[in-house]
Amino acid sequence: MEVSLTRTAAAAAASTKQVEQQQQFALASLTDLTSCCSSSSYVASAASSSPAVATFSADDGVAELRFRRESDSDGGGVVNVDLTTAQLWKLGPTQTVCIFGGSDRDSIEEKYSKGVTVQFRNEEESRIFHCAFEQWKKKGIITQGESLPNGTLSSKSKFDDKIEPSSAKMYFHYYGQLLHQQNMLQDYVRTGTYYAAVMENRADFFGRVVVDVGAGSGILSLFAAQAGAKHVYAIEASEMADYATKLIAGNPALGERITVIKGKVEEVELPEKADILISEPMGTLLVNERMLESYVIARDRFLAPTGKMFPSVGRIHMAPFSDEYLFVEVANKALFWQQKNYFGVDLTSLHGSAFQGYFTQPVVDAFDPRLLVAPATYHVLDFTKMKEEDLYELDIPLKFTASVGTRVHGLACWFDVLFNGSTVQRWLTTAPGAPTTHWYQLRCVLSQPLYVMAGQEITGSLRLVAHSAQSYTIHLTLSAKMWGVGAEQGGILQTSSCKLDLKEPYYRMSQPYAMPQDQQPHQLVPTQDVHIQADDLDDTDLIQPLQNLEAQLP
Ligand code: SAH
Repeated sequence: MEVSLTRTAAAAAASTKQVEQQQQFALASLTDLTSCCSSSSYVASAASSSPAVATFSADDGVAELRFRRESDSDGGGVVNVDLTTAQLWKLGPTQTVCIFGGSDRDSIEEKYSKGVTVQFRNEEESRIFHCAFEQWKKKGIITQGESLPNGTLSSKSKFDDKIEPSSAKMYFHYYGQLLHQQNMLQDYVRTGTYYAAVMENRADFFGRVVVDVGAGSGILSLFAAQAGAKHVYAIEASEMADYATKLIAGNPALGERITVIKGKVEEVELPEKADILISEPMGTLLVNERMLESYVIARDRFLAPTGKMFPSVGRIHMAPFSDEYLFVEVANKALFWQQKNYFGVDLTSLHGSAFQGYFTQPVVDAFDPRLLVAPATYHVLDFTKMKEEDLYELDIPLKFTASVGTRVHGLACWFDVLFNGSTVQRWLTTAPGAPTTHWYQLRCVLSQPLYVMAGQEITGSLRLVAHSAQSYTIHLTLSAKMWGVGAEQGGILQTSSCKLDLKEPYYRMSQPYAMPQDQQPHQLVPTQDVHIQADDLDDTDLIQPLQNLEAQLP
């Protein structure tokens, strides 16, 4: 996934209602029970029996259950159940009676004066509904204002503790729209790699309980069901959960084994542990959007101790690059502020700030891997072992050996993730030179380039610090030892640093593979050395060093 929020999206987000939690069940049929003269006998009115949907929700913090018959479009067939008084009785493996009614102050007759008979599509769904009923009953009591011993109200979840509500609102508004889900679905490298990884590893899904973490349209849940999953819980916090329910209902053979749960993975409850988690939580530079933290939280909350994660590992790859054309383009953006007579106003006092400002934007585009000036290194994130807090700050030391003498304009980054299946191991890569994905690659451009010679060491660090707007501040430092007298006397460094906001990238997709003629000599890493097949990657780096590097050293 990848978010590019526009101003329009931000404005629209302000008018959407808060995301609430929901859990829906498709029912084979629902039958009204009409209270007769005796409190213990109910008569079913067969005429009102028809397919229906049961929805648990926590609107405004109050948990409720609502039954809606599909045939009743006018709303007349909606039955609202007060979960505080409701009770379930099993009539059979797939049939249950739910009775409910008035308030605690009422007599027994009035308290249980209403009822419905619920016919489930299968035993499994009946079981899950009963578990959900108990969980939501409990939740109703908690969310109706339980306070901690010291009098403070317990905070809602880990997500709410660390993410600004305005950011979350905009974020889930974005994912609630079909056009953005379509954008991800149409990234065939992405979706096709997930499909292949699931299908090649059917054994990991067949007969298993699966949780789809951030299900979006529900596509990965449907893949898991295709691979024979026993049951899939599709958790999605945005309004997309309703579309996922529709899409899944439109594929009934698979849908009967999928339950959509509307809510955050940090907050929803599941009736059972999962054998395997599947998710697509990757943002630009892997970590953008901070959804990896939700993935790790989902692991701790839902995954059985021996369970698997799809994907299980992510790697951030980094290499210095030389791109004169890009550097000039970024620097020139500030030229506007060099006007001395803009409607009679001298703008030049702001040129320095504007110039620096443009260098705080990481550049997102697909570049030619020949722009890399050294073999890449990578940093591994093991989703199966890492703690959520490990993602709050990443400090990555950098050390490269330049393949040629050139000007280094910054650091190029991309990522890959591993599906460590029992049958086949498959990587999804976003490397330059590999088939382009909607993540493209990311480049941090230094406002002060470095000069390096072939064979020279480039050191530095990449520090990523998470912020509450679901993204990161990037601190990049690159250094190279100066040549000449100073270097021999003990390491005078030329150092260049920059601070960028991953939340505000410069999307430069209009010029993919822009490669002016004068840069052709920088063919530092021959393309034939770049592995572009996602599935033939192993622990070695994508970009291989020049075969005869030694020959070029001074
Ligand atoms: N799995 C889908 C969608 C991936 S995009 C696919 O592969 O096509 C990530 C989805 O996760 C978005 O729809 C987003 O709304 C959802 N999401 C992100 N954080 C979440 C959280 N904490 N809880 C539940 N859903 C979340």
